Amino acid sequence: MSSDFQIVGGGVIGLLTARELALAGATVTVIERATCCREASWAGGGIVSPLYPWRYSAAVTALASQAQASYPGLCAALLAETGIDPEHEVTGLLMLDAEDAPEALLWARTAGKPMSEWLGSALYRQESALASGFRHALWMPTIANVRNPRLGQALTASLRRHPRVTLLENTRMLGVDWVADKGVRRVRALQLEEAGGQRRLPVSQVIVAAGAWSGRLLEQAQISVPVAPVKGQMLLFETPRRLLHSIVLHAGRYLIPRRDRHILVGSTLEYADFDKTTTEQARESLQASAIAMLPALADLPVKQHWAGLRPGAPQGIPCIGTLPGWDNLHLNAGHFRNGLVLAPASARLLADLLLGRVPVIDPASYAPGLTVSI
Ligand SMILES: Cc1cc2nc3c(=O)[nH]c(=O)nc-3n(C[C@H](O)[C@H](O)[C@H](O)COP(=O)(O)OP(=O)(O)OC[C@H]3O[C@@H](n4cnc5c(N)ncnc54)[C@H](O)[C@@H]3O)c2cc1C
Repeated sequence: MSSDFQIVGGGVIGLLTARELALAGATVTVIERATCCREASWAGGGIVSPLYPWRYSAAVTALASQAQASYPGLCAALLAETGIDPEHEVTGLLMLDAEDAPEALLWARTAGKPMSEWLGSALYRQESALASGFRHALWMPTIANVRNPRLGQALTASLRRHPRVTLLENTRMLGVDWVADKGVRRVRALQLEEAGGQRRLPVSQVIVAAGAWSGRLLEQAQISVPVAPVKGQMLLFETPRRLLHSIVLHAGRYLIPRRDRHILVGSTLEYADFDKTTTEQARESLQASAIAMLPALADLPVKQHWAGLRPGAPQGIPCIGTLPGWDNLHLNAGHFRNGLVLAPASARLLADLLLGRVPVIDPASYAPGLTVSI
């Protein structure tokens, strides 16, 4: 017998959606072509906030606010269930020399977000190792970061032992078998490829949560959704002592301090199709940005350099809901630069819609509006 839900994609969006549905009593099968949480959900920085949050739409702010409130409880529950600590840490976010500070302060007042403005030497009281010469900062003390590779491990471990969840790793969705009845289409089976060959999996309700690959995947069913890959490269440093206490953002580049004295540097924004190679040019540029903020990094080697593919979508607003014209095909994808912060709220919203609960947020802004090219 098939599960109540089949989720394609085992990133943070797919896994948290599975968790929401399973906690509500549903049976769920997750189909992941490789290993869970090894794509964007591993590669990301884990800032639990949009960068420059006032520059985003109300739709992104609504999801982010809901998710930020739920993160501490989620991480505590995962730690208790699995022994793996996602290291959700409130470090605060310090934004240096943002040119649109008045808009930021207005947004913070309206949205009820703690934000203060620091001038001159005040900002060095928070971060004494910063390069000299910064004159202005916006400080958001409640912003956290999460160690996303560990979040992914904890989610995977938790779902692996859940009695109502089946995790099918190393299983790739190739396409869908569907039928049409009175103008409404219904998926009957997923075409899957795994080590033993190909097979068809009969389905009930299908959720595509395949990150940057969601658009390409749905093309195979002649469905066009505006989700496409945007590459981001990052660097990692290991520092001999704690040089930084808060997340620091300047001119679009950021430093994220982890508990164990690692500092992440992000990130590039590249439209390069599905290419995930790292480049010397990006390494030099990220290193220069990092040193311009924190000069002590000039004396340290880059420990790791990687790239990931964000699921880009117009205005960074994810598509969450049922695809128009389909009875049992749903989407939770397109979280662009904010998939880690938005994940718990996106999963909750889609679960609310699919289970007939009152939605935690008005779903209208995220409804997939697509062009069907059949
Ligand atoms: C450099 C970088 C920095 C970032 N920093 C942050 C940050 O600080 N804060 C933040 O909130 N967000 C950040 N993000 C964005 C965030 O990482 C993503 O938005 C989020 O991880 C997307 O999650 P996802 O589950 O949709 O996609 P993914 O994690 O990419 O998961 C999609 C999954 O689908 C699987 N899949 C694909 N095709 C198939 C198929 N045919 N069959 C089965 N499975 C399939 C893939 O293998 C993959 O595991 C960053 C991203 C990058 C790249």
